[in-house]
Amino acid sequence: MNKAIVLMYHNIGMPPKEGKLRSLYVTPRMFRFQMWYLKTAGFRVVSLNEILSFMRGSVSSDERLVALTFDDGYQDFYDNAYPVLKMYGFPSTVFLVSDFIGKENLWDYQELNIRKKLLDWEKIIEMRDHHVSFGSHTRTHPFLSKLSTAEMEEELFGAKATLEKRLNLPVQFFCYPYGNYDERAVAAVKKAGYLGATTMNRGLIHRGDEPFELRRSFIRFHTHPLLFMLKLHSTYEDRKGKRR
Ligand SMILES: [Zn+2]
Repeated sequence: MNKAIVLMYHNIGMPPKEGKLRSLYVTPRMFRFQMWYLKTAGFRVVSLNEILSFMRGSVSSDERLVALTFDDGYQDFYDNAYPVLKMYGFPSTVFLVSDFIGKENLWDYQELNIRKKLLDWEKIIEMRDHHVSFGSHTRTHPFLSKLSTAEMEEELFGAKATLEKRLNLPVQFFCYPYGNYDERAVAAVKKAGYLGATTMNRGLIHRGDEPFELRRSFIRFHTHPLLFMLKLHSTYEDRKGKRR
């Protein structure tokens, strides 16, 4: 296959009875199935860096490459996803909101009527040493296009600096909160020194794609196992994302 796919997850856990956006949850049991399937079907699970190499044409692969991304950095990643990823040796990227590490989803808890714990530094550092990469998801999870350019740059540069200092590693990838971005945001992400950025635009990754507008496939609560397979094996996501 000469296309790759980046999967997008949020919470790995049992969805709450109350609260909106159950679709952000994948149950631990379903997640274990999905990872088992990737392994058993022979997909190569790679880092976002390898996805970039694939896009540049410097990696060729007969298998379809798959990258795993987790937005917002919830504590349930540590509890429910990390043990499974570690068992399979799969790399992953978690996008952190740098001002809220060790706190809760302060950017949307009122609107969603649910408070969710975010990862703390101790767990982040432990996972850093076991194939989990961390990317930036801004300082406070704003709608970037509503900010002035100066405010936008503070979110992008500030988050990168904080994360790099604590991780003691370069933070190379960025994830646009709510998938919201404009031309100014793309320019600011480049200026801040990131190598690439993920969106919520649907589709597969093709050779020659723009690294600052990476498409992803959203894995939801209602993603049936057959749909999961269809996303991986076919051009379904490209058709849904209206690209060839
Ligand atoms: Zn987010």
